[in-house]
Amino acid sequence: MATPWKRKVRKAGKITVKNDAANWKPVVEAAIKTFNVVGLGVTLESVAGDDADIVVKLSDGTGKHTFNDPYYGEVPVTATFDATAVHGKTKTLVDPDKNVIVKAVIFLPKRLKDVTAPIKEAVVVHEFIHAAGLDDNKDHDRTAGIFYSPLEYSGGRLVEWGTGGKAKAMPPVRVGNETTCKLKALWIDNFACD
Ligand SMILES: [Zn+2]
Repeated sequence: MATPWKRKVRKAGKITVKNDAANWKPVVEAAIKTFNVVGLGVTLESVAGDDADIVVKLSDGTGKHTFNDPYYGEVPVTATFDATAVHGKTKTLVDPDKNVIVKAVIFLPKRLKDVTAPIKEAVVVHEFIHAAGLDDNKDHDRTAGIFYSPLEYSGGRLVEWGTGGKAKAMPPVRVGNETTCKLKALWIDNFACD
């Protein structure tokens, strides 16, 4: 299920991001710009401080991170994924009583080789959409775009799997209407999808 962010962040309509992504730093910055241009009801802001809402880091596939929140204390998380493939892994810290996201961490595939910066940027945009509140299992876009799952990577291009080559290859990143609608519904009061 899509999960809203905590009240303060949701009201601000802005999630702060600490970019700790080593040699992926430039593509993370590019992904932040792309995410903000699309218009998803929420924007991202790159910040230096340790109290950022989202941390972005590289992982060799066994990502470890410790959320450090003034209220929840230190909460360790791990994420196991294939760090040679064109995808990342996002983990959120959710308040179990209020069912709101308090913090998020994005692990990026450290061992991914021979892909262009725009492909890496596409991976990061997909993970930012997860970090903004859309779930791994239920919320992937069923129609189109960078939040479609599974995406197929070949010949330096990303395309929605099973679309018979009819879909336009990414990059540039496209965001499906279903994704835009679900995110806006999370972030904008009384938003109705058309
Ligand atoms: Zn996903």
